[in-house]
Amino acid sequence: MTRVIYIIGDGIAGLSAAIALRMSGYGVTVITKESHGGSSYVSKGGIAAATSIDDSPQLHAEDTLRVGDGLCDVEAVGYFTGKAPVVIEELIKWGFEFDSDLRLEGGHLKRRVHHKTDETGRVLTEFLLQRAVGLGVNIVNDELLALQVRDGEVRGFVTRNGGLISNVDYVVLATGGYAYLWQYTSNPPTNIGDGVAIAFRAGAVVSDMEFVQFHPTITTLDGETMLLTETLRGEGARIINDDGERFAFKYHEGGELAPRDVLSRAIYMELMRGHRVYMDLSGIEDFEDKFPGVNDFLRRHGLSKADRVPIYPGAHFTIGGLRVNVRGETNIRRLYAIGEVADTGLHGANRLASNSLLEALVMGMNLPRYLEEPWEGPRLDDGMLVQVGLRDQGSSLSIDEVRRINWEHLSILRSEDGLRKALDLYGRLNTAAGTKESNAALVSYLTAYAALLRNESRGVHYRVDYPSKDNGWRRRIYFRVSQ
Ligand SMILES: Cc1cc2nc3c(=O)[nH]c(=O)nc-3n(C[C@H](O)[C@H](O)[C@H](O)COP(=O)(O)OP(=O)(O)OC[C@H]3O[C@@H](n4cnc5c(N)ncnc54)[C@H](O)[C@@H]3O)c2cc1C
Repeated sequence: MTRVIYIIGDGIAGLSAAIALRMSGYGVTVITKESHGGSSYVSKGGIAAATSIDDSPQLHAEDTLRVGDGLCDVEAVGYFTGKAPVVIEELIKWGFEFDSDLRLEGGHLKRRVHHKTDETGRVLTEFLLQRAVGLGVNIVNDELLALQVRDGEVRGFVTRNGGLISNVDYVVLATGGYAYLWQYTSNPPTNIGDGVAIAFRAGAVVSDMEFVQFHPTITTLDGETMLLTETLRGEGARIINDDGERFAFKYHEGGELAPRDVLSRAIYMELMRGHRVYMDLSGIEDFEDKFPGVNDFLRRHGLSKADRVPIYPGAHFTIGGLRVNVRGETNIRRLYAIGEVADTGLHGANRLASNSLLEALVMGMNLPRYLEEPWEGPRLDDGMLVQVGLRDQGSSLSIDEVRRINWEHLSILRSEDGLRKALDLYGRLNTAAGTKESNAALVSYLTAYAALLRNESRGVHYRVDYPSKDNGWRRRIYFRVSQ
């Protein structure tokens, strides 16, 4: 009898897994609370892979490790950078057409970003969805509410419309991250950490929750938000303040191509000093051909590349999530997590641009290879494990209130005082209820707790009261629910 695998989430991680599993003969049902809802559909720049003659997986690994600031899992970095060229080849075999040039993004020392104009995510998601449906993947609109786990093994799950589905062979969580939980964000409203909260309640270990990556260049024009992709800066866009100063060089020798955390802080501080900050696109050659998506967006709002575009930083990618090994195995047998909901250790304390679509694709495409092999689970020996209790009473806050609190106390510049306030607020809320508000509260509580414990600055986590890196903190913070 064909075994049916349930995948929750239809982003690039979920869809690539669905296709690979279907091609290996499994029955596949994908459950998603909103079709085209996740980050994948709006992702822009592309997929990092060393495929050119002057590049190598080793060089890609070195860039990943340098940006990851001492917290990358070295084996995971070797695995993903090694598999990157294979994934690109596989996508091409499936019929996907990348543009012929490779782009440069911040933190990369080589041009290695594979892309489809400036709308890689939209075009690739549509391509994968069509292929999945063509192969007979069953796609269902529904929402995961809870997991059923017994004796350390996942047995079933509950969805809003379908109720309890039991006796399942495998569940694959591909529910994305939680960066929508900040008031200023590049993420869509689906990304509020459902998968992390639901699996945590069921006993899954989470890690690296303090590491929330902020993207430096987001713009909102007439209420429409757009991420101004990193590749714009690789192609010559400049960042200036209202005095016309290219201030990024004051903060980092790389200027506009400094790592995202440095540039986000630079722009944030400039805004705090009362300046306005803009992106100047006028130096990009062939702008209309290279960036049709940005060009259309500007035109819709009455601007062109000759105009300065106001920008601000916002929450963009959550490095933390469900602790897994590179196969996607959590500490709960037969429960996998892939893509942004998972934390393999690839990104360390800071994610190198275009490594997350790569991670999602590698995990998705390789899943069938591992399903029939003995379960290994993730290693948890490189950090401290903290037990956290759930609260089944107390009030709740709306998602918008959580977003405001996270922006105020848990964003680009953090301090003990602000983190304690956030922890205190979230510590009084109901984190057991299984509603989306309780998911948001739980995920934010864990983020604030980890950020408070880590009294150093590393990667994307910046503490104004501990502005330096501390070698004693070269370890992870793991959380597990107390029984
Ligand atoms: C604007 C933007 C640009 C980006 N550009 C790049 C880039 O160029 N390169 C790169 O590498 N990365 C980029 N990223 C990051 C990258 O897009 C994401 O890390 C990646 O797409 C995550 O894919 P995913 O499949 O894990 O999750 P997502 O694509 O976020 O999909 C999650 C899915 O889970 C579903 N879901 C969530 N909760 C539930 C639930 N309770 N029940 C059912 N379904 C649920 C959602 O509906 C959604 O379908 C970008 C991100 C953003 C926001």
